[in-house]
Amino acid sequence: MLDVGIVGAGPVGLCMAGLLLRRGLDVAVFEKRTSPGTQTRAIGIHPPALAVLESIGAAGPLIGSGVQIRGGTAYSAGRKVGSLDFGLPGAEYPFILSVPQTRTLAVLEDRVAALGSGVLRRGIEVLDSVPDGGGLLLRGRRADGAGPAAPFEARCRLLVAADGAHSGRRTALGVTPTLRSYPDHYLMGDFHDGTPYGTEAVLFLEAPGIVECFPLPGGIRRWVVRMGRPAAEPSAGFLAELIRERTGAVVEPAGNSMLSAFGVTSRLAPAMVHGRTILLGDAAHELSPIGGQGMNLGWLDAAALAPLLERMVQVERGRPDPTLHAELAELERVRLHAARKASRQAGINMALGRPMPPAVLRVRNAIVGRLVRRPAVAGFVARRFTMHQVD
Ligand SMILES: Cc1cc2nc3c(=O)[nH]c(=O)nc-3n(C[C@H](O)[C@H](O)[C@H](O)COP(=O)(O)OP(=O)(O)OC[C@H]3O[C@@H](n4cnc5c(N)ncnc54)[C@H](O)[C@@H]3O)c2cc1C
Repeated sequence: MLDVGIVGAGPVGLCMAGLLLRRGLDVAVFEKRTSPGTQTRAIGIHPPALAVLESIGAAGPLIGSGVQIRGGTAYSAGRKVGSLDFGLPGAEYPFILSVPQTRTLAVLEDRVAALGSGVLRRGIEVLDSVPDGGGLLLRGRRADGAGPAAPFEARCRLLVAADGAHSGRRTALGVTPTLRSYPDHYLMGDFHDGTPYGTEAVLFLEAPGIVECFPLPGGIRRWVVRMGRPAAEPSAGFLAELIRERTGAVVEPAGNSMLSAFGVTSRLAPAMVHGRTILLGDAAHELSPIGGQGMNLGWLDAAALAPLLERMVQVERGRPDPTLHAELAELERVRLHAARKASRQAGINMALGRPMPPAVLRVRNAIVGRLVRRPAVAGFVARRFTMHQVD
């Protein structure tokens, strides 16, 4: 019997696997995709998450292939509103690291493979889990993409459900997350970077809505434009035109390498621990991508939970641990509080980017500019942006 079965080889499931392997547990990760996903979603890795990744040997390779964003500047109508330095005094990582999610997943997969061979099992979709002889029996199907699917079974003492925002394990447990939809839609694209912004993050606080852009490795910049409704026919040309209209910046549609249109919802589960099953990552809390915290929060949860999962496994093996239950409840309370706080922060970020009459925007920007010039305020905002203050 496995100590811990993990459903989902997204960034959070893989990180949890690495952390548990480091603790000597017998772990398997079941992933329904037969090959790594190609979707480029999360790019920002925050300093506290880098410390977690360091503990499984993933920070070095990621830093080696990412862009270090050491600060950001906001403009409006061609004028600078203010700047923020992400390098907090004494910080081990004085930057937000920008790496495409595909690269992050590749590094995590490498680390999991280095820590335990055969741990990641692709092409396995977990459909069911039932109590079975002091553990859980997982049932599903195995498909290699070529032949017909075959039945699959495995046994584990504990199950980590890191199967994403639409988590099937969460539904099977009867857990209904608090769902919130927002009036915000975004069009996002990666373009060859011909701007003068270098490694800076840049926000354009404009009357029709915010435009954000962030550097990526390989001379690429990601642009995100806020819209009031879904783009009817999203295209690189349409996005380039929106960017030019709102900011004056010229991006070439021919230099586009990714385009994505998305609306925003958040889903917060009321609890993470359900008997032998633990919800983790987006399965426990889906946040708005604006603010870039979802993946990072999942990693911080994984790091906090890993030692307690090890103790839960010991209890399953028959070793008493009288304080475990209370410690687990406290940890769950703290992590869910962090998720609610991050969700509120994302809500504020989105509200700041909504359209505004130009006169109101000018006053708002003047106040924002004056506030971020105060060191205490700048430090507070920088800690929030770099997730040094999430719980
Ligand atoms: C546009 C966008 C930009 C974002 N930017 C950022 C950012 O900059 N920083 C940040 O921190 N976050 C960001 N996020 C959020 C981030 O992408 C998610 O929080 C993160 O991917 C969640 O990871 P996860 O491992 O929990 O779930 P997922 O990445 O969704 O992975 C779940 C995995 O489980 C597998 N799976 C599902 N069901 C089963 C099953 N039954 N059996 C087996 N396998 C299964 C799936 O195939 C998938 O591989 C962004 C999100 C979006 C949409």
